[in-house]
Amino acid sequence: MEVSQHWRLSNQRYQMQGETCDHCGASIFPPRDVCPECEKPAQTPFTFAGTGTIYSFTTVLDAPAGFEEQAPYSIALIKLDEGPILTAQLTDLDAEPQIGMRVEMVTRKLRTDGEAGIIVYGYKFRPMLIPES
Ligand SMILES: [Zn+2]
Repeated sequence: MEVSQHWRLSNQRYQMQGETCDHCGASIFPPRDVCPECEKPAQTPFTFAGTGTIYSFTTVLDAPAGFEEQAPYSIALIKLDEGPILTAQLTDLDAEPQIGMRVEMVTRKLRTDGEAGIIVYGYKFRPMLIPES
């Protein structure tokens, strides 16, 4: 497989897929098929840009099972540019995170799953590399 093709496939796999509400226009992440704003069914797929702002954060010193090798790490409430707030681990931090810091989604190893040693990948957020105009 060509590199570019592989990149495109993995890029697609790790898009932030959510939903949008046809009734009130709310953006929904993670997808739950019911709009949290108006409680009507919402199943129209919507791809989030994967960018947002740190709303609040906490540093975890005493990690739960499966996360020990990553401690200490920071968990943040991130307000996506489209509106929803989600919880995610921060990565690639050069310094203490700041409330209001611009962040973007990246795909990273989340944890090693139990005795089988299965590595689970998912999204984390890192400080935005390219300054926005
Ligand atoms: Zn709605």
